[in-house]
Amino acid sequence: MKLILATDNKNKIREFRELLRDEGVEVLSRSEAGLFSEVEETGETFAENAFIKAAAAARDTGLPAVADDSGLAVDALGGAPGVKSARYTGNHADSDRDRYELLLKNMRGAENRRARFVCSMCCVFPNGDVLRSVGTCEGRIAFAPAGNNGFGYDPVFLPDEAEGSMAQLTMEEKNRISHRGKALRAFLTEWRNYHADRKTESTAEKARG
Ligand code: IMP
Repeated sequence: MKLILATDNKNKIREFRELLRDEGVEVLSRSEAGLFSEVEETGETFAENAFIKAAAAARDTGLPAVADDSGLAVDALGGAPGVKSARYTGNHADSDRDRYELLLKNMRGAENRRARFVCSMCCVFPNGDVLRSVGTCEGRIAFAPAGNNGFGYDPVFLPDEAEGSMAQLTMEEKNRISHRGKALRAFLTEWRNYHADRKTESTAEKARG
């Protein structure tokens, strides 16, 4: 079976292929599926944006499509940067560092530093069926950046489940506790349950004649 992962992010594609390695699925990236126009992320939640991207890819190709949307939600900032994590400074050309420096500036004086990374995944099938999964990684916003691994807001995020910042973890350590790692593993469970249910239904239909 062919399945589209509606992104051209090489890391996400590699991770996803690895996850579905034993499921008999051929994972195609957005461009491999012939999709070149960007879909506008107009949703107000991670789940809405993941659905918008997956539904557009499924509609345009007639194949099942998966998309994810993720970001950082900070309690003291009312959930910001949230769905705007990638464009927090208002300028796409700005760097990850510009974005986390703005975050630290906006957090000056804030006592409540609680935050979480969230990843929402969605799979839309051409028949309209939808699978969803979500993963969260709880933590706090640091007072200063630390570490050189990872990307985005990792240097200023202190996960509860590890010592130090997210950017001080190896990729393996990060995958074990990260929002994306959790959402991916939850997705695999959803995927397997969905196909097991369909198999049971079609066996029951055959038995009924
Ligand atoms: P995307 O939806 O996965 O492309 O993520 C949107 C934005 O959220 C990224 O550009 C980052 O700023 C932020 N983000 C998502 N996941 C992570 C992460 O694992 N570490 C740090 N920042 C992240």
